[in-house]
Amino acid sequence: MTITSTSQWEFSSPQGKANYAAACRRYPGQIIVDLAALRDNMRRLVELTGGPDSGTAVMGVIKADAYGHGLIPTALAALAGGATWLGSAQTREALALRRAGIGPDRCRILVWMFNGGTAPLDELIEQDIDISAGSMAALEDIGRAAQACGRPARVHVEVDSGFGRNGFTEEGFGGLLARLSQLRDQGLVEPIGLWSHLAVADSPDTPAFVAATDQQIAAFARFSARMDSAGLHPQIRHLANTAATLTRPEIHFDLTRPGIGLYGYEADPAMGQPADYGLKPAMTLQAQLSMVKDIEEGHGISYGRTYLTPQATSTAIVPLGYADGIHRSASGFDRAGARHVDKPGGPVRVMTNAGPRICRVAGRVCMDQFVLDLQGKARDLGVAEGDTVVLFGPGRGAYQGEPTADDWARSADTISYEIFTCLRNRIPRLYLNAPAALPADDLAKLDPASIL
Ligand SMILES: *Cc1c(COP(=O)(O)O)cnc(C)c1O
Repeated sequence: MTITSTSQWEFSSPQGKANYAAACRRYPGQIIVDLAALRDNMRRLVELTGGPDSGTAVMGVIKADAYGHGLIPTALAALAGGATWLGSAQTREALALRRAGIGPDRCRILVWMFNGGTAPLDELIEQDIDISAGSMAALEDIGRAAQACGRPARVHVEVDSGFGRNGFTEEGFGGLLARLSQLRDQGLVEPIGLWSHLAVADSPDTPAFVAATDQQIAAFARFSARMDSAGLHPQIRHLANTAATLTRPEIHFDLTRPGIGLYGYEADPAMGQPADYGLKPAMTLQAQLSMVKDIEEGHGISYGRTYLTPQATSTAIVPLGYADGIHRSASGFDRAGARHVDKPGGPVRVMTNAGPRICRVAGRVCMDQFVLDLQGKARDLGVAEGDTVVLFGPGRGAYQGEPTADDWARSADTISYEIFTCLRNRIPRLYLNAPAALPADDLAKLDPASIL
């Protein structure tokens, strides 16, 4: 047994320890989500918007299976942290929240992506889920569904203040206002909200982007004034994502919609470290080495020979690959390899008898595995098959603890959001601090086998 074959985790019970062992047996990689961190991040976001009595509510954005953290556990942790809204893009996730027993008495839910022709708008209305309308076709579909249900739909009008994606443009807004008034007068639609989305709020140091955000805010104010003049006074105006929640208090309005901040990351590393904002990354991705061996200098590693060992070394196999959501673009090349470029691969923390060492993906990421260059002899380092290594985690200090999803994003030329959401469900997902973070009734909503 080596130093790393024991786990670093604190289990809440003997059953938690048994669940961990069962997950390791089932699969050689695990996602561990700290529910106390999710709750505390939400508490922090609520505090940043002025607290529970400020008049600004906070929505936990839990789209895409809560950015890969698990829909229901994350939603419950967000509520424990003071969120009074949950938001998802797809209708199935909004409905899943209600099915899990998260009723309208506990929180409002907003959903903003659907094809009105086939979407279950009737179920959304019956489940008291707020629906975004960003086009006339969507509004008509919502009106029809409300008529069929015999009760009004709660609608948030989405406007395109400059993002260039969904929502009404200023040109098309007059028609919307006229039709919305009719549907309201017919008792089919309650115009609850007005909202828009920001394109570059995560670049507070880039003057052109600050100006673009200012223009979006001005456009939003024009939409808002037009809605008021039409007598459609929306109760809830919302514009701020995480970046604006952290850096633009003047546009918190009635509701903010942080996503990435809930998961403990800032929207862009250029904004600083999560800790600068009092946030802590909640997810750790770890794996158990499936093979360790010595290899001579100049040995090609993986498909395409893009990495040739610069010296005699040991390599280790991490049994996660692109079929698990490890980006192939996080492959590592060296100048001696077929590409003749130095491109550091994704970072992995390996515990050695000389302390933690950051090793890099060597060569191409494969479907189910990738190779690490240990930069030394495994025997000398005390590294062996079965050792647990960490791909990313809370990242206490620059690599002193472990890499973060931002480090993987840099290696893969993407953003942390994509690092989380690409992880596949074949990797067991386990929850740390669940009994501490959730009330007993909520704890009972989790898969008992997932609680550490
Ligand atoms: C994803 C999303 C958010 C959250 O964005 P973050 O950058 O993760 O805070 C907010 N609003 C909408 C409409 C979104 O799609």
